[in-house]
Amino acid sequence: MARRHLIIGGGTAGMNAIRTIREEETERSTITLVSAEKPYSRMVLPYYLDRSIAESHVFTATARVLAGWGVTTHLGKRATALDTKANVCTLDDGTTVEYDDCLIATGSSAVRAPVPGADGPGVHSFWTLDQARGVLAQIQPGRHVVMVGAGFIAFTILNSILSLGAKLTIVEVAPRILPRMIDDSGAGLVQTWLEKNGVAVRTGAKLTRIDDVKGRRRLKMAAGGDLVADVVIMATGIRTNLAWLKGSEVTINQGIVVDDHLRSSVPNVYAAGDVAEGRDLISQTNAVHAIEPTAQEHGRIVGANMAGKDVRYRGSLIINIVEVCHLDVASFGAWDDTKAETASGVKADRPAYRKLLWRGDRLTGAIILGPSSDIWTTNDVGMLKGLVQSGVSLGPWKAHLKKNPFDVKPAFIATKTTSRLLPETILGRPSKAPGETPVAV
Ligand SMILES: Cc1cc2nc3c(=O)[nH]c(=O)nc-3n(C[C@H](O)[C@H](O)[C@H](O)COP(=O)(O)OP(=O)(O)OC[C@H]3O[C@@H](n4cnc5c(N)ncnc54)[C@H](O)[C@@H]3O)c2cc1C
Repeated sequence: MARRHLIIGGGTAGMNAIRTIREEETERSTITLVSAEKPYSRMVLPYYLDRSIAESHVFTATARVLAGWGVTTHLGKRATALDTKANVCTLDDGTTVEYDDCLIATGSSAVRAPVPGADGPGVHSFWTLDQARGVLAQIQPGRHVVMVGAGFIAFTILNSILSLGAKLTIVEVAPRILPRMIDDSGAGLVQTWLEKNGVAVRTGAKLTRIDDVKGRRRLKMAAGGDLVADVVIMATGIRTNLAWLKGSEVTINQGIVVDDHLRSSVPNVYAAGDVAEGRDLISQTNAVHAIEPTAQEHGRIVGANMAGKDVRYRGSLIINIVEVCHLDVASFGAWDDTKAETASGVKADRPAYRKLLWRGDRLTGAIILGPSSDIWTTNDVGMLKGLVQSGVSLGPWKAHLKKNPFDVKPAFIATKTTSRLLPETILGRPSKAPGETPVAV
């Protein structure tokens, strides 16, 4: 059994792996963590931005906790090379770390639109804690923030920007907002809702350059007039942090290609989270799912396998859920499958929208939208996710849902989806209480 575990990356995947190794191992092993940043959760940064949590609350483990777990740390250092023949990782200060097995969990970084001025003053990304600090220092009541990109990450910080009293304009090059999360009909309803709530939205809008004009930013647009902003946030995508693995034996496609135990092409090297190209629950093909639940589940599976267990991963479900100006917007699974059978319903006045997608009598994807105050929005988010995740055969309830896409509850109850999902755990065993560990990861 591997005695020396090396974890590269102290984000969600890395921390879940460490925690699971300690839970599952039968003999005490050595764990070394190399991470460019201290362990924290990127997902909570929007709450730090709107000041509902203090900066100290973003961290997932302090130095004392890591010491308590018996983890040797190299924090603030980057892995720069992995010699998979010698089982040695080299860090940016020249330190070398030997391992028996290793986890690559280096996550992703924000990418800016490739236009002149994108790296100039007043232009920010929002992906790391450092970047969040930069944005927080700039946003003040009355200031005009232009968000370039209307994807999921942009939407996670939209409420925070508004709650700080800033004026917000969103520009998106695609013909609709949330292009990789919801369809045209849903996007139209969300855009109208945002505009009613004072957010200006420009779709099909191509940014060509950003100039500094007397301390403000002028965003030159290909058409439709320029914009002047105090703060620009580029939410224009992410890239996996894998360049440092160039020349290693590890096979990389969109991410590190992993098998159903999350092992890479090098058997004692695992990958998890944003960098892993693992099994998609619905299609059973490989995909990169850069979302928190995948990073958590991957980390748990890898941790158990590193600890000597034999745990297969069933695959991860794409889950996107955001709330903007008290409107819940969610999509699950293969929501954009053009070959699926579909049914949809819209109540434009609320607004509320459901789109359901089937392969055979199994629900494989869904889009849900509705006011957060409407109990059926929240309930349907949970129930539709359950139906997609469980892959339950809907039988006659398929016809019911096709006719009544808003009436999810009877189908959910009749198919006994809760009793199918309740006993399911990632590691195939009942979950354990965190014991004396003061943080849950
Ligand atoms: C603002 C924001 C909001 C989000 N909201 C949601 C949400 O609501 N729902 C959702 O599902 N997902 C959300 N996400 C995405 C989610 O946070 C990521 O999918 C998740 O953090 C991925 O975890 P990870 O462990 O793979 O990578 P990360 O959390 O990115 O951790 C990677 C770690 O590796 C370190 N690292 C990088 N390169 C190296 C190197 N060469 N050597 C050593 N260390 C290195 C980094 O410093 C970091 O500590 C959000 C992300 C952001 C930024």
